[in-house]
Amino acid sequence: MVSPKNSTGSRGLCPGAAGDQFDTEPAPDCALCPRLVSYRDETADQFPEWFNGAVPSFGDANARLLVVGLAPGVKGANRTGRPFTGDYAGDLLYATLTAFGWTRGSYAARPDDGLELLDCMITNAVRCVPPANKPTPQEIATCRGYFRARLKALPNLRVMLALGRVAHDTIMTTFDLRKSLFPFSHGARHQLSPDCVLYDSFHCSRYNTNTGRLTPEMFGSVFTAIAAELERS
Ligand code: SF4
Repeated sequence: MVSPKNSTGSRGLCPGAAGDQFDTEPAPDCALCPRLVSYRDETADQFPEWFNGAVPSFGDANARLLVVGLAPGVKGANRTGRPFTGDYAGDLLYATLTAFGWTRGSYAARPDDGLELLDCMITNAVRCVPPANKPTPQEIATCRGYFRARLKALPNLRVMLALGRVAHDTIMTTFDLRKSLFPFSHGARHQLSPDCVLYDSFHCSRYNTNTGRLTPEMFGSVFTAIAAELERS
């Protein structure tokens, strides 16, 4: 189970999470990335009942743990409007969060399933679905403004979990840290500042699990380490 929040209350912002002109969450029709807007529009023409917009973060505004994914899946978060909801990656992520006590309610792969995250928030490095699941460097850089603003608004943040290299690199750039000093590898722990730690995991995608690159046990071991980290903090 997750331990109670630190009795000392807010630890302040992680260094590097300086504010700027971005809101913490983009408008669903954010138009800063023309290629992604075109792709959203194409998808909306085909599936008008889907969300088809910039997907907001989901979870506890006072979270100590921030899970950072790559971008919405076209039939997952882009369809449902909630991060990791409705595709295989979400099945594994929410099952793992539930097993470690970071949820209340039951995950039913729908944004109206009543699920709550406890002391945890999920966001994506890029908020709009990219074609072939591959955002361009420019799109990653543009959406980083929202990521930075999201960090700034989490006063109790202690641990980030990067799901995959793009999320890891987004965090490195946001914190003005050299990637060569903090190389991505599954299970790695990086002390980013006195009050903020980053853990890395391979992304919990169907491809990674089908190929054996990531097993549920490997994924769970990272959450075990994070739970222990928060227990100590
Ligand atoms: S990816 Fe981010 S910056 Fe680009 S259009 Fe979507 S919300 Fe806006």
